[in-house]
Parts: sequence; C-alpha cells; structure tokens
Amino acid sequence: MTEPSRPVIVTSRNGAGIELVTFLIVLFFSYYWHGLGVTVGYHRLLSHRSFRCPKIVEYFWVLGGYLALEGSPAWWAAVHRAHHKHADTPDDPHSPRDGYKHSYFKWMFKQDPHIIDVPTLSPDILRDPVYRILDTGDDALLLVANIGYRVALYFLFGWQVALASLVAGLMILQLPLILNLFCHIPRLGYKNFDTVNDAVNVWWVAVIAGGEGWHNNHHAFPSSARHGLAKNEFDLTWTIIQIQRFLGLSSHAYLPSADAIVDSPEALLPFSPLANNAEILKARAKRRAKGHKKLLVGLTN
Ligand SMILES: [Zn+2]
Ligand SMILES: [Zn+2]
Repeated sequence: MTEPSRPVIVTSRNGAGIELVTFLIVLFFSYYWHGLGVTVGYHRLLSHRSFRCPKIVEYFWVLGGYLALEGSPAWWAAVHRAHHKHADTPDDPHSPRDGYKHSYFKWMFKQDPHIIDVPTLSPDILRDPVYRILDTGDDALLLVANIGYRVALYFLFGWQVALASLVAGLMILQLPLILNLFCHIPRLGYKNFDTVNDAVNVWWVAVIAGGEGWHNNHHAFPSSARHGLAKNEFDLTWTIIQIQRFLGLSSHAYLPSADAIVDSPEALLPFSPLANNAEILKARAKRRAKGHKKLLVGLTN
C-alpha cells in the first residue's frame, strides 16, 4: 500500500528565503546589465567608437545605462569627451584637482556649456533619432523612464524584482562618479604610461566597474576597446566585447598593437607590468635596432 502523499507546506521562513534568493539573482543580473550598459554602451561604444555592432545590440546596452540614471547618451559622451580633451586642466569638467567633492558630484551642478557643448562634442550620437529624443528637455524623461521601469517590474514580477533593479541601478549610478574621482588621484593607483594627466590604474575600481579602472591605459589609448593591457589587468568589458565578436555581434574593435604601445606619445614606463610583455620586448628590440628615438624616452633599461 502506498503512503498518501503529504501536502507541502511552505512556511513563511521558506517564503522569505525564496524572496531573498529572487532579490539576489535579480540584483546580480541587473548590476551587470546596467554596469555593462555604461561600460560597453555609453563609454566604449558611443563615447569612443572603439568597436562596431548592430543597432539592436547598441540599444540593448545603452538602455541598460539609461535605466541606471546615466542621463542622455549624447550629453554623457559630451562630458566624457570634454574630460579626455582637458583631463586635469582647469577645463576638465570633473578633475579632483578642483576638489574631491567637485570631482565626485558637485561638477554636475556647475557645468560650463562652452566646455560641455553637446552639439559640438556629440554630433555623431545626435544623428540617431532615438538619442536626439533622449537629449531633449531636462531630466524629466530620464526620471519617468527609470521610475516607470521599476513600477512595471513591481506589477509584473513583484517587489523583490523591482527593489533589486532599483538598488542595482543606484549602485551603478555611483560607478562613473567613483571612477572620475579615484582614478585621477595619483597615490591611489599606478601608471603604465607617463600621461600628462593624473589618470592611474586602480585595481579595485576595475573589479567593481567591469575593467574601467585601468584608467591610465585608457587615457594613453582612448580609442582602444580593451583597457586592461597587462596580463594581470582583467577587463570584463573587453571580455564581453570578445564574446560578442565570437557570436558575430560586434566587429572592428580597435586595439593598440605592441608597436603602437612602444611608439605611444605617452611613454611606456620602464617599471610597468607591460614593459616585460614578450611582444613589447620584441617591438622594443626592433625599435632599438632602428635607433628609434621615442624608445629612449619611454624605456631606458
Ligand atoms: Zn579620466
Ligand atoms: Zn573614456
């Protein structure tokens, strides 16, 4: 005789456990979608055009950034391009040389329209009608989209999903602000390249911001799709771009060759982990054989 099956009783403790697991799973995936939305979409794709991809892939990432309260993509790219153009000079929109609080958030409230001139700095982005719409008016559209998205998640999937998405979005909102500050304080990181600005590589920013913390490399090669250049400089965003390339979803990624690195106007510092890379050593030997002068500036050993 078979035993009658026992009814499964879900205790409130089990229920709370499931709610917590749901929250954590959604937090994890939202963190990476919004985070890579900023790094793959806003930064390496739109601001620097470091690789190409189909529009649908572009919109997928840019939407991730937009729903992390990053603002209009054309404005974001204009601020960032102005930063590269004037890094750590009086015209840099958010240099820590003008104060840590200014670098972290105060710069947003005193933007110089002559320096952050969106039509002049982001004409390529404004050619897209979607980005033109996102750039109209103030931030009302941004707030409506961000709040509306979480309200929709609440009604469709419950409060755990909506709350996790909101927390992830707010965490990612912090990342570019943290990076602007900490990756331009020389004592907090190291330089591979002798850039005139203060940009340094900060390992923990690279960990939380998908490889964006290799900021000194980035200032030396702003168009590079890959920011982590040394062996121990893991770059999640570059890994994602490589996966996209493997799937046929991106192409034309720009990477600095060993020759370009040795030849860089910002000299490769002799104590950098990159200096002992086999390809770099080969490029250096080639340059030395030719009596190349730039080599003597950057690499003295
Ligand atoms: Zn910078
Ligand atoms: Zn950049």
